[in-house]
Amino acid sequence: MIDTGEIAIQPNILNLAAYTVTAFEETEHDYHIHAMAQTPSDACLHCGHPRLQRFGRREQLVKDLPMHGKRVGIYVDTRRFRCQACRKTFYEVLPDVDGRRLMTNRLVAWIGRQALHRTFASIAEDVGIVEGTVRLIFKDMSPNWNSRSPLTHPRGWVWMKSTSSGPER
Ligand SMILES: [Zn+2]
Repeated sequence: MIDTGEIAIQPNILNLAAYTVTAFEETEHDYHIHAMAQTPSDACLHCGHPRLQRFGRREQLVKDLPMHGKRVGIYVDTRRFRCQACRKTFYEVLPDVDGRRLMTNRLVAWIGRQALHRTFASIAEDVGIVEGTVRLIFKDMSPNWNSRSPLTHPRGWVWMKSTSSGPER
């Protein structure tokens, strides 16, 4: 693609500037987007040495935010390297991705917010993951929300209801 100023504003359908989209398919319920990171690793993950040798690749499915009411899966062409110094191998670290969950960071954040006011099952359905994963994400994020979320203070809620002895007398 020619890099004009205008095109650079809209990097790709993912709106993730760190990725190049290489293919795109749409089905009734899903988007399948093939992509790769624009900038591959430039130093060994183990020792920091800059001389790396390409050592294969694999496709990793990364879940992303639902788009236009459809589930989104990004098939990331992930490169593997071998370090010329320590000889260890590693896969490139994918930008904007929670590597432990194989989801975009923005999806993890979105699930955490949605889980405050929706059922885990409905969120899991929207994203195309199992309910247990939604529960784990909510559990990981909820310590930060203890002071704000009404869902984490059910007793306080009951107390408020039982003591509001109505204006109807
Ligand atoms: Zn190394």
